Amino acid sequence: MSKPLNFKQELTCVFGQPIAENPSQCMMEAAYNDCGLEWRYLTIEVAPENLEQAVGGLRAMGFRGANLTIPHKVAVIQYLDGISDAAAMMGAVNCIVRKGDQLLGENTDGKGFVQSLKELTDPAGKKIVMFGAGGAARAIGVETALSGAAEITIVNRSVERGEALVQLLSEKTDVPVSFTLWDGDYILAEDVDVVINATSIGLYPDVDAIFPLDFSSLKSNMIVSDVIPNPPETHLLREAARIGCPTLDGLGMLVNQGVIGFQLWTGVDPDPKVMRAALEDVFGIK
Ligand code: NDP
Repeated sequence: MSKPLNFKQELTCVFGQPIAENPSQCMMEAAYNDCGLEWRYLTIEVAPENLEQAVGGLRAMGFRGANLTIPHKVAVIQYLDGISDAAAMMGAVNCIVRKGDQLLGENTDGKGFVQSLKELTDPAGKKIVMFGAGGAARAIGVETALSGAAEITIVNRSVERGEALVQLLSEKTDVPVSFTLWDGDYILAEDVDVVINATSIGLYPDVDAIFPLDFSSLKSNMIVSDVIPNPPETHLLREAARIGCPTLDGLGMLVNQGVIGFQLWTGVDPDPKVMRAALEDVFGIK
């Protein structure tokens, strides 16, 4: 049966480095389709020196929203009309939302992580050990702190970034935060509730990377979470599952940050299962 042509499609996009089959584009377009929305989500390569003009292009062409990947998450802020409190705390924006003629910045990475974590436990009152101190760790650190975590230990390879994150969280939130240098297999304290990998260890093509943790210190009551979406089953998660820990993979965070962006742009609640299925299809899982 023929489909009536629609000449008014709403546009959203991701500015970053395109890959042949962009997982975010597949996930968002599957959700638009499932919700019966005539919206598109495009993957657009933007060089750092062209970011200002690209944001101008969003305005001129009436895009409803955009996502940003590295290296644009910090640089984009100067071209926006405002940013949310959480994005200001993190100093990074991964999602632009059009409100009238204004382009506003939000950060959905940490919120997506917390949403995913809440499928297993509420971060409120929990002792958290987080590996990493880069962009993902900053977003997760801020949102878990705002969600009422009891204590956060940042474990990082470089002292500078680790201490900078501790300072940020200590200044902006009330949660006790400490830094431990990561220089060997890390030993977890017995009372840790949630273990988070927010580093890029295990990200494709480094799929056989061994996670530097003393796995004998990992107990089956600890929740173990990894931000790596590709491949979603990492060395850390495999070992944690073998020990009997409840686990969360990086696809959960990716889906949930997408759900939040989708809601902000369209005002509609997408089905996370449809979005995860689209990602699993791209990554060839199942
Ligand atoms: P950054 O480059 O900002 O930070 C990388 C972090 O990983 C740093 O803390 C770095 O330590 C650490 N690291 C990297 N390699 C090693 C290693 N071999 N040993 C120890 N530490 C290491 O990256 P992002 O924070 O932006 O991204 C991190 C990961 O999060 C990426 O894999 C990305 O795909 C994922 N991500 C997932 C999302 C999702 O929705 N699932 C969303 C956003 C990101 P150091 O400071 O010492 O260099």
